[in-house]
Order: sequence, then C-alpha cells, then structure tokens
Amino acid sequence: MTTLYCAICGNRFEPDDDHMWIDAERKPRTCHPTAPLYEADAEYAFHVDCWERETSGWRAPA
Ligand SMILES: [Zn+2]
Repeated sequence: MTTLYCAICGNRFEPDDDHMWIDAERKPRTCHPTAPLYEADAEYAFHVDCWERETSGWRAPA
C-alpha cells in the first residue's frame, strides 16, 4: 500500500484520499536557479484543504 505525506502539514494520507500534486518547479521555495536537480523532478502531494489554506494567505504559526 502506498502512503503519501502532505508536504504542508506532514500528515500521511492514502492515495485515494482527497489530495493534489504540485511539481517542485512550481513551488516558490524551489525557484532558486541553483536548486538541486533532484528537486526539479520531485513532486509534492498536499491535502486539498492544506493547499487552499496556503494559497489563500493562511499562515501557520512560526
Ligand atoms: Zn495536509
């Protein structure tokens, strides 16, 4: 069984749970020109809720 981990909250979820994928290239944190190559091929899975929270300006306490 495949277990995925949300890149935002870190909680695990099953592939059939509601989630989404984001390519590393589109992730703001990895836009640095010298980012390691392996990150260019990486993908990140998120809970849909987590992603919407991130993109809507919600911020977790530092
Ligand atoms: Zn999450």
